[in-house]
Formats: sequence, structure tokens, C-alpha cells
Amino acid sequence: MVPSLETPAPAQAHRQFTEANQQFYEQGWNWGTVVVIIFLHLGAIAALFTFNWRAFAGAVFLYWMCTGLGISLGYHRLHTHRSYKIALPLEYFFALCGALTLEGGPIFWVATHRIHHQNSDLPGDPHSPRDGAWWAHVGWILVGESKHNNTALMAKYAPDLARHRFYVWLNNWHWVPSVILAGILYLIGGLPLLLWGGFFRIVFGLHATWLINSATHMWGARRFDTRDDSRNNFLIALVSFGEGWHNNHHAHPTSARHGLAWWEFDISWLTLKLLRALRIVTKVQVAKVKSPILEKEAA
Ligand SMILES: [Zn+2]
Ligand SMILES: [Zn+2]
Repeated sequence: MVPSLETPAPAQAHRQFTEANQQFYEQGWNWGTVVVIIFLHLGAIAALFTFNWRAFAGAVFLYWMCTGLGISLGYHRLHTHRSYKIALPLEYFFALCGALTLEGGPIFWVATHRIHHQNSDLPGDPHSPRDGAWWAHVGWILVGESKHNNTALMAKYAPDLARHRFYVWLNNWHWVPSVILAGILYLIGGLPLLLWGGFFRIVFGLHATWLINSATHMWGARRFDTRDDSRNNFLIALVSFGEGWHNNHHAHPTSARHGLAWWEFDISWLTLKLLRALRIVTKVQVAKVKSPILEKEAA
């Protein structure tokens, strides 16, 4: 039985699944993932009834650590695109932080994202809004056989990571650190800290990341005439540590700096500048964009 993924017309009226995605779609719901995602959302809603400032501050700190350092600086700008260099223990630490978002292990995440860059908005893109906004946002992870633990398959796209035993281990057991953290949060701050620092923070991070796949391939300005539909979106950049400058990023994938104009707020870039000044990171790659492009915009 094929599940219905219908969302309201007209956005979906002309949805055409690419061959690969159609195949996943026809495999039906991935119940394991569906149940976890629903459970996380219920916990995030429950958090609203247990608010206290201490728990909220814990959530903000963990959001910075897990989505900021783990996903934006780690999985994305370091592990996928190798836009700067950092000592191996810190590289591992960033990956551990990335796993704490429940976005999957490093080999899965990096492989999926490299395939996205290879086939952006073309057949083979795992999450293009051309297959529907809902599909690009979350649908693509809710159907089909889970690739999260298929380390052997994903390693083909991330051989550089698959050489490290730590990454292979983390990819296979990517959810374990989150379970341990949940226990620690409960011991330190009881239910409020577990719900805010765990559930709410994870759900917020998931949607912030999913918006890069959905919204920044639909809404926003296009500075560069890339062959995909990528956009620059200020609001999404704000909640995703600068990842919302997605058209800049597709035009210059190996640039560690995504916000290219001074007003394009990019927290991860500011963090990297600080880490570079402290000599913690080196060989930071930055897109060489001619200033007339930006001056023309201002005119
Ligand atoms: Zn993209
Ligand atoms: Zn990328």
C-alpha cells in the first residue's frame, strides 16, 4: 500500500517524482523514522508547558553546540566541503555534536549532501522542491528503506570519512549519544531540561535544517545564476547559523564563508574567523567574489 503524501494544491499539482525518489516513495512509510519524528514533536509541544529560564538557556546552548558547531561548521562546512582544516580530535568532536541533532550519522549526512550538490534540483537530488515542498522538507526521510545505517552504501560517497573507524562507528550508532545526553539532561534538570534541551532543541534544529532543503530552494534572492533553484534567505540564515545564504553556497560550495556581503549575517563564518585568529583552524577557503557584484546590488 503506497502512503498518500498529498499536500494541498496548487503547490503539488505538478509534482513529478524523479525516478529515484519515486522508488523510495513506493517503498512506503519508513515507520521507524515516522514514529521517532512524531515522538520528538510531541515532546517539543510538551516542552511549552514546562518552561523555565534555566531549561531554555540549556536549549540555546545545546542548539549552538549541536546545530551550530555540529551541523553548520561540522557536517556541512568541514566534513562535506572541507572548507577549512582543524585538528582531528576537534573534527571528531564536531561530528559528535552533529550526531546529537538526530540528523543521522556523519557518513550518511555527508553522502546525502554531496549527492544534493551533484544533482541539485535535477533527477537524483534526494530532496528537491521540484518533487514538492513537503517532499523536500521532510517527506524524503519518511519513506523508503532507511539509509541512515547503511554505512557501506553511503561510504561510496564519503570514502574520506569511511576511512576513520570513529566515523563508521558514529554512523552506525548515531542515535546513541542523543540517548545518553537525554539521560544526563534529565539527571541535571529534570523533565523541563530534558524536554527543552532534548526534544524542543532537536525539533527546532531539524526544521531549521530542513528549511535549507525546502525554503532556500524556493524563496529568496538569487545573486548567482546557478544551475539549481537555490536562494539566499535572510530569515533562514538567522536561525541556521548562516546556512540560509544558500545561493551563495551553491555558487561557491567550498567557501567556508556563506554570507558574502557585510550585511549577510553568517554566525558560522564569524565563529570561523575567531577560531582562525586563535589558530585553531587553518586553510580557510573563502569565495573570491568581485566587489562590483555587491556594489551593484547596493546601487
Ligand atoms: Zn541546496
Ligand atoms: Zn553544501
